[in-house]
Amino acid sequence: ALLITDKCINCDMCEPECPNQAITMGAKVYEIDPARCTECVGFYEHQTCIAVCPIDCIIWDPQHPESQEALWEKFVTLHS
Ligand code: SF4
Ligand code: SF4
Repeated sequence: ALLITDKCINCDMCEPECPNQAITMGAKVYEIDPARCTECVGFYEHQTCIAVCPIDCIIWDPQHPESQEALWEKFVTLHS
């Protein structure tokens, strides 16, 4: 899963682009639900939130490293 850092400026660009509805407004900045983020596996070749973020504040979450296989399984679980 990916992680939004506290540098986020709440520009709202990423939230509507997430195909898994994994991005929501948190206490201070936008947050990604690691249970819903497939790193866009199942939808896009690239991570669409990273692509639209104007300040590059979305990173790979060191707490949630996942294999491609695990990401595919999450995609299937979320969308079956
Ligand atoms: Fe959503 Fe894809 Fe970003 Fe994960 S990588 S939060 S699935 S847009
Ligand atoms: Fe924050 Fe980047 Fe999303 Fe804008 S696109 S709300 S700066 S994470």
